[in-house]
Amino acid sequence: AKAAGRDALRFFDPQVQAQMTARVALEADMRSGLEAGEFELFYQPKMVHGRITGAEALLRWKHPVKGYIPPSEFIPLAEQSGLILRMGQWVLRTACERLALWSSHPVLGQLSVAVNVSPRQFHEAGFVPEVLEALAGTGADARRLRLELTEGLLLQDVEDTVAKMVQLRGYGVGFSLDDFGTGYSSLAYLKRLPLHELKIDQSFVRDVLTDPNDAAIARTIVALGTSLGLQVVAEGVETEAQRVFLERSGCHAWQGYLLSRPLPGLAFEDLVLEHAAS
Ligand code: C2E
Ligand code: CA
Ligand code: CA
Ligand code: CA
Repeated sequence: AKAAGRDALRFFDPQVQAQMTARVALEADMRSGLEAGEFELFYQPKMVHGRITGAEALLRWKHPVKGYIPPSEFIPLAEQSGLILRMGQWVLRTACERLALWSSHPVLGQLSVAVNVSPRQFHEAGFVPEVLEALAGTGADARRLRLELTEGLLLQDVEDTVAKMVQLRGYGVGFSLDDFGTGYSSLAYLKRLPLHELKIDQSFVRDVLTDPNDAAIARTIVALGTSLGLQVVAEGVETEAQRVFLERSGCHAWQGYLLSRPLPGLAFEDLVLEHAAS
């Protein structure tokens, strides 16, 4: 058995080795990239009743050699290595800077910005002070900041979660439950948490017109959220037909390529102003 174990190890080793080397290299790149200003926030508009009411901030890494690397390729690694703490801090700060920049503008000043928060970042001891510092340091209005949390994050430590949410809620920060329906859902916590918004995961929106199960799930989430007094936002709306279906199901808030992909800050501002004028 011992020999077999050694053989298995020998067989597996180069692969694991190569993977680890690649990850270590990517992590080092990520660390220096953060210092070098290679990360950017893009903004995707959120539509409510036909008006742009805010944006979701989405992280982009413009690697000097590899070009844009999507968050799915570096956020898991940033989580594992702990770099997500500094990265998350940068995201909060940058989103708040944008909010503060908009605050005196008649149109842009009405917008809210939603920031995705990773589980590790949220459950870290200093999370609440970090958010308050980003707000105070930039002069952004807490009531225009929204934090997007995932189901898994909420269930990790419910007491800690509720305490932090209540505290931030006290300053006016709002909360969205992201990717709703994909995690280990427990309906029990929905009533305990000071949420504003449920986001229907795009996996249910994609086939909402062709898959009766997805349609049923989407409708159920809309009904559930609405009856709990929450705003329900559909993610990943790509076609007018999907939008109409959702609207008929009572969902009047959505994001998706139908209106716009996530855009650099300036392009997002142009879109908002153009939209407001039309
Ligand atoms: P998410 O929070 O669920 O974000 C929505 C994702 O769907 C984004 O991908 C967005 O670009 C994409 N999307 C928006 N509209 C459409 C559409 O109509 N069709 C399709 N197919 N996709 C659409 P993105 O930007 O690649 O981000 C992926 C995930 O990475 C996010 O999922 C979020 O979990 C994470 N992420 C992004 N930025 C941050 C960040 O600043 N901090 C943390 N912790 N996570 C982030
Ligand atoms: Ca999100
Ligand atoms: Ca989502
Ligand atoms: Ca997602």
